Amino acid sequence: MDPTLVFTTLKELAGLAKKANQIELTQKVIDLQTLVMTLVQDQWDLQKDAEKLRREKADLEKDSELAGRLQFKNNAYWIDGSTAEENGPICSACWDGDRKLVRMVRFPDNVGHCNRCDKNARYGRSAHDEGSRRSIMDGW
Ligand SMILES: [Zn+2]
Repeated sequence: MDPTLVFTTLKELAGLAKKANQIELTQKVIDLQTLVMTLVQDQWDLQKDAEKLRREKADLEKDSELAGRLQFKNNAYWIDGSTAEENGPICSACWDGDRKLVRMVRFPDNVGHCNRCDKNARYGRSAHDEGSRRSIMDGW
């Protein structure tokens, strides 16, 4: 319902009460206007809360859909299990602990860093690992 219709009617009612020189009635109409304004404000607040909840629900549904696609591999989560750059790495501490989907910054040597929780994770072999493997293999 359009609240301006209610305010217009109340204003007309206040005018009639004033014209009839009914002070007590005029005061009651003013009280009623105040109550209606409070109700309109409450309705406005509820609409804002409902909109916020709709957005949060949409975010949760998106996270839930994404959660179904996350796969833990090499110390981090990856969307669809793919280690392609656009699919991760995603911080396991932030996801497991707080359900926050935080992409880790990639550093050399397959180290990811989470700017949210400040943790590092090695999500692949390091050059040192490769070197050790090669020297072991060289010994064969
Ligand atoms: Zn993190």
